[in-house]
Amino acid sequence: MAMHGFDFSTLGFNTTTTLPSLNNQTYTELASFAAAKWPHLSVFEQFWWAHYAYWQSGIIATGLLTFWSHEIVYFGRCLPWMIADSLPSIFLRYKIQDTKQPSAAVQWECTKFILLIHFLVEMPLIVLFHPLCELFGLDVNVPFPRWTLVAFQIGCFFLLEDTYHYWMHRLLHWGPLYRKVHRIHHQYAAPFGLAAEYASPWETLLLGLGTIGSPLLYGAITGNVHLLTVISWVTLRQLQAIDAHSGYDFPWSLRHLVPLWGGSDWHDDHHRYFIGNYSSSFRYWDILMGTVAGPEAGAKRRELRRQKQEASQKKSM
Ligand SMILES: [Zn+2]
Ligand SMILES: [Zn+2]
Repeated sequence: MAMHGFDFSTLGFNTTTTLPSLNNQTYTELASFAAAKWPHLSVFEQFWWAHYAYWQSGIIATGLLTFWSHEIVYFGRCLPWMIADSLPSIFLRYKIQDTKQPSAAVQWECTKFILLIHFLVEMPLIVLFHPLCELFGLDVNVPFPRWTLVAFQIGCFFLLEDTYHYWMHRLLHWGPLYRKVHRIHHQYAAPFGLAAEYASPWETLLLGLGTIGSPLLYGAITGNVHLLTVISWVTLRQLQAIDAHSGYDFPWSLRHLVPLWGGSDWHDDHHRYFIGNYSSSFRYWDILMGTVAGPEAGAKRRELRRQKQEASQKKSM
């Protein structure tokens, strides 16, 4: 049984001779088979193996994992924010721009657009993801890597993506690109969870490259990135993007606990003031480059510009 992209032999046995009867077996039967054969693996690892053995196609097995994890995380995380929006008596006090609550009709329009983008733009990319894993040397086999390695790599992906996002997002605010590509994302001056992926297909591709490209690049260089790490990373990045657009800032929000973490107040200001706060997860790129959003930062920038102009006028006199 040759299986595209999933190498049974790494688990130390020859599939063609010992697994002739794996066809037409259920997930549970395959998982029990894995449990008997490799009792040292965790139940999660046994089911992961069973998933690939069931589909016998890397493209389908990887595609299903990446597509459904994306959909479940996206709508699963947006749902609590929609509930919060429908209960203003409890949650309005935590809303950053409390005069601009999204109506149910606005949220429904946004949901339809998101589904269209997910099925038309993201689905083809997801189908292509397994060949990309093979091309860049990403691992889909069991056993999984140690959690410490997974955590370290996800930390690196956060830093890489944030850097890419800062510069690409800043470029998207350049006039012609803004009008043609990025304007759609800025339709909501007071964002809400669902608006996180409300963007033109080109923007989805351009900014998505930072999310997907970071683990692919890291995998190509080190040869040591697992698909589970990529799925965990994309999940955390989705949670970050949805929370950043939620419009709510709680006393227990992550930004109060992690220094330089962006958070919702940070990205809310990007949508409100339009200039500044271009980074995704952290604040330091904008602080370093002098592009913090808001009236105070804007006044400071104008004052600096005025001083520079004065200095150059004095020089030329
Ligand atoms: Zn923007
Ligand atoms: Zn945004």
